[in-house]
Amino acid sequence: NINNNETTLLSALNQSNIIPATNYLRENATILMLVRNWELPSALASIRTLEDRFNKNYNYPWTFLNDEPFTQEFIDATSLATSGETQYGIIPQVDWNIPHWINLTKFEQNINDSIHNNIIYGFSKSYRNMCKFNSGYFMRQELLQNYEWYFRVEPDVNYFCNFNYDPFKLMKNLNKKYGFIVSIYDYQNTIPTLWDTTMEFFTTGNNSNYLAKDNSYKFLTDNSLIGTSVTVQTNSTSDYNLCHFWSNFEIANLNFFRSKPYQEFFNYLNQKGGFYYERWGDAPVHSIAVGLLLNKSEIHHFDDIGYYHPPFNSCPSSNILRLVKNCQCNVNDENNIDTKPHSCLSKWWKFGGGKYFMQYDSNQ
Ligand code: GDP
Ligand code: MN
Repeated sequence: NINNNETTLLSALNQSNIIPATNYLRENATILMLVRNWELPSALASIRTLEDRFNKNYNYPWTFLNDEPFTQEFIDATSLATSGETQYGIIPQVDWNIPHWINLTKFEQNINDSIHNNIIYGFSKSYRNMCKFNSGYFMRQELLQNYEWYFRVEPDVNYFCNFNYDPFKLMKNLNKKYGFIVSIYDYQNTIPTLWDTTMEFFTTGNNSNYLAKDNSYKFLTDNSLIGTSVTVQTNSTSDYNLCHFWSNFEIANLNFFRSKPYQEFFNYLNQKGGFYYERWGDAPVHSIAVGLLLNKSEIHHFDDIGYYHPPFNSCPSSNILRLVKNCQCNVNDENNIDTKPHSCLSKWWKFGGGKYFMQYDSNQ
């Protein structure tokens, strides 16, 4: 029982299921992985699946970043595993380490409190550097200066379906700036003051001018739900409902993250110290920024790729789509986040960008 939408979808997919021509013009884009040398086997696993499902036909270049020099073993194995060119960058210490204005006593105190309160990754100092780096420094790295787009990949992820199209072209042709797959609630205890600090920023000077006209405020807060029958999942202590895009998968425009509004927002957060006095993640930081600085229509939900990053997966709900795109996933899997109350997707459909229907040939 194939309905009308699905018939159109099927023909759209068939049209776009073309190996690109030899003179295919790629977008100005790179696949980006921040990774440690010891994660090589996991990095190779991610490379294998993305090359198989997408990049073997398009040969986009890969960029690997590390706060330490990559080993020759890492460089050899990854450059041989990828279809496109590879480049390897060492992150400058000032972009990675604790900024000089951070009060180290206060920082140590929060590390100890976090251990005591079982805050996820709360014990790790390097994790906080990583979150700050992914929030405000990855886009400033020298190797990325000449690129417009990136596709963020992490070790040990899996893409369940053939892409059948070039996601960078989709982003460009549909005027998108940020693409995600999974959206879930964050842990309140990692970001107690992130929302209040955000509101402080947007009420400083003329910063409210930075707010996009058709932003996702209603997706990020539950104010609009009061008095309705929609269940509020959050245990938030602020207006923020904790919904965020899982940033381990991102396809996005670097110029957005390099823009004055984003950079000013990040610098404000960084000065306040919440990456070290609390355990702010790059996912809620990106999500709040994207949600307030971009119009809803500039955010794309990739609902047709399927994705796994421990501990959750996401599997396209359309049976016909799963068949056409050779998806290897099970919608009924107990770890399918999209069907759990813990997912923010239904909120995205209702208050964010709505449900997107893939109906276009991105190879044109
Ligand atoms: P999780 O996804 O929140 O569980 O955290 P991960 O351990 O996957 O880290 C997120 C990303 O940052 C992954 O791409 C890691 O390889 C990378 N990463 C985390 N910590 C470090 C670090 O200290 N150095 C480097 N070079 N990469 C890191
Ligand atoms: Mn990860």
